[in-house]
Amino acid sequence: MDVLNTAVLKNYTIENKKIINNLFQEKKRIVIIGHHNPDGDAIGGSLGLYHCLKTLGHDVSVIMPDAPAVFLMWLPGAEQIFIHKMNALKTGQLIADAEIIFCIDFNHPERVEALKMSLIETKAIKILIDHHPNPDVNAEFIFSDTDYSSASEMVFDFISESGIKQGMNKNTAVCLYTGIMTDTLNFSVNSSRSETFKIVSELLTYNIEKEEIYNKVYNNFSVERLKLVGYLLYRKMKLIKEHNFSYIIFTKEEMKEFNFKEGDQEGIVNMPLSVSDIHTSVIAIENNGFVKLSLRSKGETDVNLLARKYFNGGGHKNAAGGKIFKDISAAENYLTESVNSFFKKI
Ligand code: 5GP
Ligand code: MN
Repeated sequence: MDVLNTAVLKNYTIENKKIINNLFQEKKRIVIIGHHNPDGDAIGGSLGLYHCLKTLGHDVSVIMPDAPAVFLMWLPGAEQIFIHKMNALKTGQLIADAEIIFCIDFNHPERVEALKMSLIETKAIKILIDHHPNPDVNAEFIFSDTDYSSASEMVFDFISESGIKQGMNKNTAVCLYTGIMTDTLNFSVNSSRSETFKIVSELLTYNIEKEEIYNKVYNNFSVERLKLVGYLLYRKMKLIKEHNFSYIIFTKEEMKEFNFKEGDQEGIVNMPLSVSDIHTSVIAIENNGFVKLSLRSKGETDVNLLARKYFNGGGHKNAAGGKIFKDISAAENYLTESVNSFFKKI
């Protein structure tokens, strides 16, 4: 198999689609990888593809650098995911033996953290399916398009165009729908393309339970989590009014108090954006040796730029993440200084 011109960032051409089609004519050993701290799109897109390829008889494994949040573990196939942090020997072996590796919902090797070197060194053919800006992955096939709502929506198109659509089943539809739903915040952002709704319409023909999926993802928290939301908004939300900016600092001590579980933070960062004058919102969560940031904006404020410039991160224009490698009080100063200098410049 010829390695194609990997300098081309978007080489998902008709010609390459034919080559990809041929790849799946024989049974292959396939690994599907999503990003660190995998969200609904990374998990949904990966598992959607997994169910489709598995139905067709391929030997398929899904690997994530670390565990998904509990609220995604109901997804069909989630229990089959290999978590690198828990079983590095197995994931290393699977990657070494793979003939094809899919990279789903990320476009930079840093995003898979401890899997980075395995991904760089593998001899497998890599196929990237992603919707983030500024791709920087050395893959043979790069399907990269920021117009898409989600990587899961792209996986649907990939399946449709790669001669593997006969493998589509209800499990695939449930997973892809969940990925599209979560990345668009239930169709409130990144979902103005009519194509997105055509795909959703087709997914619904697999008899998926749309309302049930919504409830499993968004109405499945604990009482402690609801109290945490109230506490963070009432006691911890701070404003930098001149920049229409809001931030919340969430400490380890508070995590203990509210019996915090991974995933409980989901959605909280969006809440300040319900205020008309708040255009950008950040939640800073204390971690071991660093502070993890989630950034959201509405309108033209580009939090991808903000995260890339000051917080060792990135993402999309209206949703990004990053890290500050300082203790929590120094991180707050760094955050406010960075925000002041970012908004003064633009
Ligand atoms: P979240 O705030 O939910 O962790 O992430 C929001 C968005 O930013 C997602 O699209 C995610 O892929 C991206 N993102 C989160 N953390 C990082 C990071 O550390 N680096 C980069 N490049 N992107 C991130
Ligand atoms: Mn995504």
